[in-house]
Amino acid sequence: MKKISFWLLCSLTAAGTAMNSASAASTQDFAAKAQQLAQQHLLIDTHIDVPYRLVDHWEDVSKATAKGEFDYPRAKKGGLNAPFMSIYIPASKEKTGGGFQLANQLIDSVEAIVGRAPDKFAIAYHSSDLQKHFNEGKISLPLGMENGTPIEGKLENLQFFYDRGIRYITLAHSESNHIADSSYDLRRPHKGLSAFGEKVVAEMNRLGIMIDVSHISDDAFYKVLALTKAPVVASHSSLRALVPGFERNMDDKMIQALAKNGGVIQINFGSAFVVQRANQWGLMYKAAAKAAGKDQDDPAFKAEYLKKNPYPFANVETVLQHIDHVVKLVGIDYVGIGSDFDGVGDSLPDGLKDVSMYPNLIEGLLQRGYSEADIVKIMSGNTLRVWQQVEQIARQQQAG
Ligand SMILES: [Zn+2]
Repeated sequence: MKKISFWLLCSLTAAGTAMNSASAASTQDFAAKAQQLAQQHLLIDTHIDVPYRLVDHWEDVSKATAKGEFDYPRAKKGGLNAPFMSIYIPASKEKTGGGFQLANQLIDSVEAIVGRAPDKFAIAYHSSDLQKHFNEGKISLPLGMENGTPIEGKLENLQFFYDRGIRYITLAHSESNHIADSSYDLRRPHKGLSAFGEKVVAEMNRLGIMIDVSHISDDAFYKVLALTKAPVVASHSSLRALVPGFERNMDDKMIQALAKNGGVIQINFGSAFVVQRANQWGLMYKAAAKAAGKDQDDPAFKAEYLKKNPYPFANVETVLQHIDHVVKLVGIDYVGIGSDFDGVGDSLPDGLKDVSMYPNLIEGLLQRGYSEADIVKIMSGNTLRVWQQVEQIARQQQAG
């Protein structure tokens, strides 16, 4: 919970010109303290798109890389200990097939990262691995699958991917699939979950795979909550309260239901998830490209459009507003970090451009009066709690 703001204390105790230097000194103190907390405590980020980034532009992320937002030196600098590697499967694979194949290739590519630098990285198969790797000075790479398409209608594939290390599955991505309806898709064939999707939820509970409710429709979300025996995560979502009408984010009622379930929403940093203007910029840009008969990815068209319509980037403050909103709504125990680094292109907030910059977020939390204990919950404690409970429930189910 929030304590009395530092600035209020400052205005009560300092006066005149002395206040400016006092504030400056304390800003430095917060920055130093934030660096210290980032290094001292576990920091989990539940969604980083490294594997898919490397499909088209391979780089050795165990060394400094020219592109992207994640590499080992920057992760170390930012105090990042456990980035969930997103095994991202494009929605198109639902129709074309090949989801199972691609998921395995992407998991192989994470194993290759570890194989190339076993002194720096290790795959995390169990929640307790995070602290163990931290103590060994290694970065944990747990695996999360974004899109249930690779399950391909076979429940036994859940066991298969569990054995390969997958510890959460986002049930759908940008289109409805054979498991769940998607928030981005106007077609909602299941009105939530399919009959197979209901079995997937039960089997994920039994195996100890976290259910990720990011991307799915509201109906699918409520259906999952009605069925699951374990808490769930929203691995990279933000709030509809601050970006009204954006269904990919969660509304307050959903956050309250999530808290009741004991789950966690990990806040997505992408500007379009965080500020309304950036979200609208994307819609206007798409409309302009369509009107001009251009492909959205046409670099010349985009450069020209950006000149006239600069992108309204979010910043550290606007990301903090999302964290604050969750904390005010349901308390400190239900919010974490799911940046979407390497997954949202050039739309990251000023001050949170890559994995070296988490301390800026922590500094903002300190300025807002969050205690160290509360900051640790946001950095890792809340997510760790969900993972541990999911493991425990799976053990109970398998024993019984
Ligand atoms: Zn996503």
